[in-house]
Amino acid sequence: MAKFYILSGAGLSAPSGIPTYTDEGGIWDRYSVQRYATHQAWLERPQEVIEFFNQRRKELQKYKPNEAHYFFSKLPNSIHLTQNIDDLAQKAGDNPIHLHGKLTEVRCEECRKVWDIGYKDQPSSCPFCYGKKIRPNVILFGEVAPNYRYLYTIKAEVFIAVGTSGKVIDIADIAQYYPISILINPKREKRVTLFGEFENYIDEYFTHFLQEDVTQAIKKLPSFFR
Ligand SMILES: [Zn+2]
Repeated sequence: MAKFYILSGAGLSAPSGIPTYTDEGGIWDRYSVQRYATHQAWLERPQEVIEFFNQRRKELQKYKPNEAHYFFSKLPNSIHLTQNIDDLAQKAGDNPIHLHGKLTEVRCEECRKVWDIGYKDQPSSCPFCYGKKIRPNVILFGEVAPNYRYLYTIKAEVFIAVGTSGKVIDIADIAQYYPISILINPKREKRVTLFGEFENYIDEYFTHFLQEDVTQAIKKLPSFFR
């Protein structure tokens, strides 16, 4: 059994400068998400989606991991699940399970192979079967995320939710299964699920709440582990 179960979101990479989905005017703002990061867009305008992810992949090169990536990478006896598609955790020596896929990976829709292409544009044909149906290996809105099967299977003593608003994954629900649960988020947010908005704030479901930037919060974390 692991001691720590870490579930991270955009707030982990935000201090490195990667814009979150909801930053207005950011590359991942609502307009971009609707236009390029949905299953519908992939069906209707695959070339635009490919170009969009080629551009994001190229940009990824310049970002560096922050102290929090290194902190979680070195945390012994831990399992890390991330919603982030960037490779900053890897750059810090971590090896998280990517719930929403990885920007540096592509996959072939014909032979199902997945491979890493680094920061390059995606190739036009598959090196394994020579098929032409290659796509970014990221989960688009409206698609199933097979790795969600891990969400409720991690046995641990401490659950740490980092920089996620809980709108996509219901972290308030997961928190109740762990004796110690810690939420790290600079903003206090209402619990919102597919079924609507709750009266309660997400932090009310956790035993501890650190309302601050993750790079600050990690300095206080060790006091909870004694
Ligand atoms: Zn193939």
